Amino acid sequence: MKRLVVLGGGESGVGTAILGVQKGFEVFVSDFGKIKETYKDVLKKLELKWEEGGHTEAEVLNADLVMKSPGIPDKAPIVKALKAKGTPVISEIEFAAGFTDAMIIGVTGSNGKTTVTTLIDYILRQANVNSIAAGNIGESFAGLVAGGKHDHYVLEISSFQLDGTVDFAPHIAVITNITPDHLDRYEYRFENYIASKFRITMNQTEEDYLIYDADDTVITSWLKEHPTRARLLPFSIEKEIEQGAYLKEENIIINLGNNTFKMKTANLTIKGAHNTKNAMAAATVARLLNIRKATIRESLEGFQGVEHRLERFLKINNVNYINDSKATNVNATFYALDSMTSPTVWIAGGVDKGNDYRDLYPLVNEKVKAIVCLGVDNKKLLEHFSSMVDVIIETQSITEAVKIAYKLANKGDNVLLSPACASFDLFENYEDRGRQFKEAVRNL
Ligand code: ADP
Repeated sequence: MKRLVVLGGGESGVGTAILGVQKGFEVFVSDFGKIKETYKDVLKKLELKWEEGGHTEAEVLNADLVMKSPGIPDKAPIVKALKAKGTPVISEIEFAAGFTDAMIIGVTGSNGKTTVTTLIDYILRQANVNSIAAGNIGESFAGLVAGGKHDHYVLEISSFQLDGTVDFAPHIAVITNITPDHLDRYEYRFENYIASKFRITMNQTEEDYLIYDADDTVITSWLKEHPTRARLLPFSIEKEIEQGAYLKEENIIINLGNNTFKMKTANLTIKGAHNTKNAMAAATVARLLNIRKATIRESLEGFQGVEHRLERFLKINNVNYINDSKATNVNATFYALDSMTSPTVWIAGGVDKGNDYRDLYPLVNEKVKAIVCLGVDNKKLLEHFSSMVDVIIETQSITEAVKIAYKLANKGDNVLLSPACASFDLFENYEDRGRQFKEAVRNL
């Protein structure tokens, strides 16, 4: 019996344990921190050995195969010890993909993964395809494979999951865009992070497809230097594309072979240039899977977006309140500001991951009437933007921030929470920040 050691007892770890037991492995789960009660219950039912609060070396190092959860960095001592020994250390995606023949669509990128993954899954479901979205969202892929109920998996895949792949090859891969993020896990070298994202296509063959943003020069330059065997289907909002998707006279056009799909961008429910790109990527996937054009159009007209991503949740006194709490980097906020069509009170700030705010100068000049800073340390925002807007106010509470924004906004304006920062100084996570924001607005 082969011994599978699972490092990390969270969603992907427990899913892997379930699948491992089902496939006849002797499974041991080891978590350096605490394991949630709900997950412990599952492990107990599986009647396998597990531990928390540390790794017992003797139990871990005798593994034949190790699944490392994405949150655990390569520099963790236990991972180093395993690698020194030559034990294969893989990710959950790699492990689970080996046990299913279902169609796999993989989505990666720096921003837009959840939106594109959810949208693809939504279109497939509207077309009555037996699909499920997994990976970084929802239930773990491994757990779902163990359930064996689906024949299409749409996977949101982070670079950490891709780092642990060996043979993983989605039939259709999407790279939404690549901008610097998580560099602390990549020796502060952008090229390492780019290489990690491109692992999504490394095992693809001539039968497979890679869909990507042709306006993103990081992606196009990398592809020139590192060709893939997959068939390329780029999308662009700047230029015409022969095979792939582009914009023409306010229409999305998708050419696949001799077949053309067309849809007015005005009919998309999700707004902004970035969402047009997200829609292009998702619709290209759907066309590759031969989903009817009418179904794709109807889906794109009905998809309400994902919570905390440019979510227009309330209008008070003709002011739009928009929750973009998921914008934890400058690039995401760039697109949020870019999509504002009326004067905007911008709520920003939190834990800065080395932000370069200069990219936002033109948009702030053009669209932002006031800034409400929401962070423990707001110095950097004040330095960059004080001379650019008439009003910039510091707060350390979401309720206060919302009250101030309410006073500053006039009829027709927007109040946008798009922090460009992580949330850990004042909130549990970005979901908590978004929910508290919505709550505060509802209480106005
Ligand atoms: P991810 O799963 O990659 O973090 P999300 O879909 O959750 O991506 O969106 C994260 C943030 O990025 C949100 O603020 C969203 O509005 C913004 N965003 C979504 N799609 C794109 C895109 N194609 N380019 C840039 N920003 C985007």
